[in-house]
Formats: sequence, structure tokens, C-alpha cells
Amino acid sequence: MNKLTMDDLDLRGKRVFIRVDFNVPLKDGVVTDDTRIRETLPTLRLAIAKGGRIVLASHLGRPKGAPEAKYSLLPAAKKLEEILGRMVEFSPETVGGVAEARSRALADGEILLLENVRFYPGEEKNDEVFSKQLAALCDGLYICDAFGSAHRAHASVAGITRFVKQAAAGRLMEKELEYLGKALTNPARPFVAILGGAKVSDKIEVVENLMKVADAMLIGGGMAYTFLKAQGLPIGKSLVEADKVELAARLLAEAKSRNFRLMLPLDHVVAAEFKADALNHACGVAETAAEEMGLDIGPRSIAAYAAEISRAKTIVWNGPMGVFEMPAFARGTLEVAKAVAAATDAGAVSVVGGGDSVAAVHQSGVAGRISHISTGGGASLEFLAGRKLPGVEALTDKGRAA
Ligand code: AMP
Repeated sequence: MNKLTMDDLDLRGKRVFIRVDFNVPLKDGVVTDDTRIRETLPTLRLAIAKGGRIVLASHLGRPKGAPEAKYSLLPAAKKLEEILGRMVEFSPETVGGVAEARSRALADGEILLLENVRFYPGEEKNDEVFSKQLAALCDGLYICDAFGSAHRAHASVAGITRFVKQAAAGRLMEKELEYLGKALTNPARPFVAILGGAKVSDKIEVVENLMKVADAMLIGGGMAYTFLKAQGLPIGKSLVEADKVELAARLLAEAKSRNFRLMLPLDHVVAAEFKADALNHACGVAETAAEEMGLDIGPRSIAAYAAEISRAKTIVWNGPMGVFEMPAFARGTLEVAKAVAAATDAGAVSVVGGGDSVAAVHQSGVAGRISHISTGGGASLEFLAGRKLPGVEALTDKGRAA
């Protein structure tokens, strides 16, 4: 990576602004899942060890540029305190006099968490004045560990970097970029990409970009039907994006002409209703009746995809193979999760991103066997689509004088 990392920073006795992703689920003012907080611990522990005076910032939820009690980060401060076993100060104001005074009161290794950056309209507008106010809370040192927010040019991930001396990647950010970056630029082969989920339109650029670098692509979930329709197959009432059928046909033709292994479901589990207890059965994709919809990949597809996955040395997976929230249509997704884990046991590097696929690897009990579980669904998709992430671009290039 050609961006500064924490190894390049001298933090001792200095205030360092660290943008984290503490966008955690809350219930009655208590953090119900602290995964995101725990993910930042390597960065926080290193910053403490380096003697930095840590000013932490994050967004939480979608407040509309004004304070809303239910989106306060105070519960996250309490949770962090509990996990770290040390005091975490909290500033109820994100910028301005109170925040500045509290940041200046920090001793080496102490932590101050600022209130939700999205309580200010300047955050999402990437406003210059707000960016400067954020930068005033540190001594020219910035670390971004919020990979999940790196695809948005907001003040705390982009704007602020123009007003600091050094902007570096935190440990979590570094790990994300290392795994995703390696898959795109220097993957061990064969490289198998697995894409699923509801819509093709969300992933079309990912399909196009990964077709350039992967050796095979396995498509499942609702997005498969736009491709199957493009092949002239009956898809019944399955999810389809009519305005993307032509594009799907073009991608299929391109794959064919380049001998690219673009694999679509051979069979699927269909039902007449989108309901957890709907009567369902498996059939070949050519045998779909007009009143049926495909809600999961079928056993032959699972076997074919698992075989392909078992030969892979690099695997990138985003999106479920079916409506896995309903047990009757979860098998394809859970079996793919197991196949990815087995391939990883056999030496492949696997990267799983996107809320649903991440949930699936947890649900199937294989999360610990995946090489890297990406913390940023949207950001990882944009990265895989070959787009530059504003929050990464904004970091200081290595070799540039401080
Ligand atoms: P996405 O957010 O695009 O990754 O899509 C995830 C959603 O796609 C999940 O909620 C799944 O239930 C849904 N999904 C997956 N396969 C299908 C399918 N065959 N038909 C309808 N929805 C699906």
C-alpha cells in the first residue's frame, strides 16, 4: 500500500484524530453488538502504546444533520470503556470550545470520544469549515480506521485530511485494503468471485470489473434471474430487472467470447409465494413454471459451485445465494459458506463482504475459518467495482514529507 500507516506516525504527546466506525446497533441506550468497536482495538491499543492523545470520532445511524438522542455515541463510549478497562472521556459536542478543551485536557494514552459527527450538516456536505473544526481537535495527525465509511466523501473521512499534516490508515483499514487490494491486483489463482443478492443493478460494475481479474464467477440470488432471462430461460415470477436484461446479455456474450467461466444456477428452489412456509420444490432452471419464483439455488447448483470453490486459491464473496432469511431458502447460501470455509482450510484466501454474506458465515458457524470478513459492505463493493474510495485517496501518500 502506498499510503501512510500507523507505523509512520509519531504520536507521543500529540493529539491524534482517529475516525472509527462505531455505527453499532443500540437498544434502550445499550450497545447490543460490539463487533465494530472490537474491530478497532488493534488501532486503539497501538495508539495508546505509542503515547498518543486519542480523539475518536464516528457516525451512528442517519440523523439529519442535527442532534437526536437515539443516535448519541455515549453508549459506545461506555462500551469501549468496558472493553478496554480504562476511562473513555466523552464530548457531547463534536466540535467547538467544549470539544477542544476536552481534547487539550487529554494525557498521553487517554481517549476522548466525540459525539456523532452526523449531528452537524457539515459532515455529509464535506464542508470546509466543519472539516477545519474537526482538524482543530488534533495536532496535525489523523488516522482513518473506518473502512465502512471510506466510500463517502464526508468531512470526517475526507475533508479533515486537507487540514492535517499526516493522514494514515489504521490497522483495520490497512487489513481491508490489503485483502481486497491483493484480490484485485495480485490474486493467487484460480480466483473465484461469488456474487449474489437481490439486484444486478447494485453489482453490475462489480461483475464487469471482476470479470477482468477473476478466473470464474458464480452468480446466485435474485440477481441471477436477469441473466437467466437474458439467456431466454423462463423465470416465472422471479425477481428480474427488465432494464438490465440487455446488459446481462452483453456480459454473457463477452464471457463466452473470452472463455470466461461465468456460472449461473443450473437448478433452483421455487415457490408460488414469497413466504417462509410456502410450498417449495427444486427444479431445473429451464423448468420454471409461470406462477413460480426462484428463491434459492438448487442442489445441482450447490454441488457445481462448491466444486468450483474447492479449486480456488482466492475467493471473494458478496451477496446471498437465495432468500436466506427464510430457512427453507437458506441452504444454498449456507452451503456456499461452508464450501468457502473448506477451501480456505485447504489454503485459499477468502474475503467475505456485505451484511448478508457475513451473517451467513456466522450462521453456518464458519466465520472463524474465513481469511477476512470485510467490515464495509458498500465500501467493499465499490472497491471491487474498481472505484477509488475517497477516504483512502485522502490519506497521505508514502514518501511525501510530513
Ligand atoms: P443485496 O442487498 O442486494 O445483497 O440482497 C440481499 C437480499 O437479497 C437478501 O435479503 C435476500 O433475501 C435477497 N434475495 C436473495 N436471493 C433472492 C431471490 N432469489 N429472490 C428474491 N430475493 C432474493
